[in-house]
Amino acid sequence: MTRRYSALSLLREGVNGQRGWEPAWRSPEPKARYDAIVIGGGGHGLATAYYLAKNHGITNVALVERGWIGGGNTGRNTTVIRSNYFFPASAAFYDFSVELYEGLSKELNYNIMFSQRGMWTLAHDRHGLEMARRSANAMLLNGVDAEFHDGPSVRTRIPGLNPDPRFPILGGIKQPRGGTARHDAVAWGYARAASALGVDIIQNCEVLDFVIEGGRVRGVETSLGAMRSDCVGMAVAGHSSVIAAKAGLRLPVSSYALQAFVSEPVKPCLDTVILSPATGTYLSQSDKGELVIGAGLDLYLSYAQRGNLPWMERAAAGVVELFPQFSRLRFLRQWAGIVDVVHDSTPILGLTAVDGLFINCGWGTGGFKSIPAGGWCLAHAMATGQSHPLARAFDIERFETGALIDEASASGIAH
Ligand SMILES: Cc1cc2nc3c(=O)[nH]c(=O)nc-3n(C[C@H](O)[C@H](O)[C@H](O)COP(=O)(O)OP(=O)(O)OC[C@H]3O[C@@H](n4cnc5c(N)ncnc54)[C@H](O)[C@@H]3O)c2cc1C
Repeated sequence: MTRRYSALSLLREGVNGQRGWEPAWRSPEPKARYDAIVIGGGGHGLATAYYLAKNHGITNVALVERGWIGGGNTGRNTTVIRSNYFFPASAAFYDFSVELYEGLSKELNYNIMFSQRGMWTLAHDRHGLEMARRSANAMLLNGVDAEFHDGPSVRTRIPGLNPDPRFPILGGIKQPRGGTARHDAVAWGYARAASALGVDIIQNCEVLDFVIEGGRVRGVETSLGAMRSDCVGMAVAGHSSVIAAKAGLRLPVSSYALQAFVSEPVKPCLDTVILSPATGTYLSQSDKGELVIGAGLDLYLSYAQRGNLPWMERAAAGVVELFPQFSRLRFLRQWAGIVDVVHDSTPILGLTAVDGLFINCGWGTGGFKSIPAGGWCLAHAMATGQSHPLARAFDIERFETGALIDEASASGIAH
């Protein structure tokens, strides 16, 4: 049984020389057969494995990860959590995710450091201002918290903002419940809780192919041998189209590199998350003091997990435009992840044309915030064979029916 983390256990280990801690999750040898197999040890895969066990009592589950858990986009993202969407289906889904995040540290007995410091989207021109008003109204109508602020109000609430930037700040929307969480902790917390419920977490194990018999999935071939199961879920982000092709599925997913940067750490100076569409930059400050800076997608498709100078220059220019005083900071690190972009900016979640094979992908630049809800809904689909009501609109069938949910056009949010 996994030991509970508590102030008392910390104290006890403190006086006992920290010798009593156990590994946070088990690393068992793979079994020949499972009731369910989840491919991909990012946040979505780990959350799926956890909710299969927790919500549906399916504990004979393998979580198969080709590298180390959280080593994909989950451990590479800028950790912004929000639900500022336009369409009712998106708002309901992403807000459910924020709600799950609000209780996650307690539920997993693992501090995910969720800090609801608020998320701002600035408006830099009259069209942006109109869009901000429209988005705030849509969010309120959808039951999501939103505040509209004019320029002077934004400036009093974000001290240090450049009073005279090249792109004037005419206003902005704030989602007070938005914020950030510690990405590794989300992966590790789900892994630990899933393992405690009986899930086998198998790292360094690549899925090479599917076993499909009579149009139905019967298992996977992996670098550690075959594993049989009539129920397989995949949550492999930027590699979704590559893996799905092995089951004969063609996905409307394109893979791009998305980069992020951190500065050297400084004392606390920014207590919120700011997105500035005109400069193409967003930033927050981590608990370690680093400015965490994100930018846009590369303009070309790629599976190379590395960044490049043009985006670094653009991100730095955007940050200095907003906060000239940060111009003296140095970049400490830069990295990239491969994100799975769907052209209507909405995920694909649920059943596929292959019986027993389920999918969770298309999160693009914004799937960290949806990890709890994405895992919840994929687990529901795998356990019941039905799409979860919150994810029904995200079914892949929408590319046949034409019922697309174009958030990029509606809310200006790519994902
Ligand atoms: C730079 C950057 C910044 C971002 N910022 C934000 C943000 O601020 N807020 C937000 O909400 N989202 C953000 N995102 C997006 C977010 O990180 C992703 O959408 C989310 O992490 C996707 O989670 P996942 O579990 O689907 O994928 P991943 O975490 O990428 O996990 C997929 C896993 O599948 C594994 N895998 C692949 N192929 C195989 C195989 N054949 N066999 C076994 N395993 C396999 C991979 O190794 C990987 O570990 C950002 C992304 C990047 C790159």
